[in-house]
Amino acid sequence: MNNSPTTVPAHKPRFAVFKCSDGRLQLVTKSLFRDGAPGHFFKIMNAGPLVPPYLFHLIAQRPFEVLAAAILKGVSGVRKLVLGTRFGQTPKAQARLERMVYGAHSALGWLAISGIYGAFRYAITAKGVRNVIILVHEACGAHEENLGPNGHDLWNRVIKRNAYDNMRKLKGLPQSRVVENWHLWYVSFSKRGIQQYNHTTQVWEVMSVADIESILGNKLNATSVAELFQEVWSDPSVDYSASDHEH
Ligand SMILES: [Zn+2]
Repeated sequence: MNNSPTTVPAHKPRFAVFKCSDGRLQLVTKSLFRDGAPGHFFKIMNAGPLVPPYLFHLIAQRPFEVLAAAILKGVSGVRKLVLGTRFGQTPKAQARLERMVYGAHSALGWLAISGIYGAFRYAITAKGVRNVIILVHEACGAHEENLGPNGHDLWNRVIKRNAYDNMRKLKGLPQSRVVENWHLWYVSFSKRGIQQYNHTTQVWEVMSVADIESILGNKLNATSVAELFQEVWSDPSVDYSASDHEH
């Protein structure tokens, strides 16, 4: 049996991508974040995306992460130790040790990399990520949910603000100091375009294919950014009236 992890190409992604779960967004980004071997992108996805304050992670998640990781490594160490003694030589004892590892991972494996900060820390420290793209989009349902009907005029401004806030929060993670580039992108379905936040002028600027290609270091399968939106608009069963809220 040869299933050692060393037989798999190493994953050294260049970008951590934080993006919304919205299916319309995936139609645009599948050609944008088209992976080449062995994978350029480490994608972290949730509705929004919404990132909790770093302090929340530090108090509510991080202590349990550290504890869980220590226990899992300990259990693994105990197995190795016992396998090296005469007590670990019978198939029955070996099966029992394996069950112990399964049990520990089943109980605590989910906790060792907890939440969005855990995933981001992993991308930086284990995968060597140095570039971040935070991707939000027009008419995002996550924000509609939070705004309620009285905030619809603010909808897309809140969404853009969220991209910036996410960056600010993620910078709270000490490990994220090694990140070299923070790209904030806003996808507009109605304008069939992508805007990028200019950190110096604080203006959202329309991106060209060349702009995107120079950041990603990838050739896009499109001659214009609008082309990336073809599939979004080709489904007549989808109601895009929500897009009219942008000002
Ligand atoms: Zn969304």
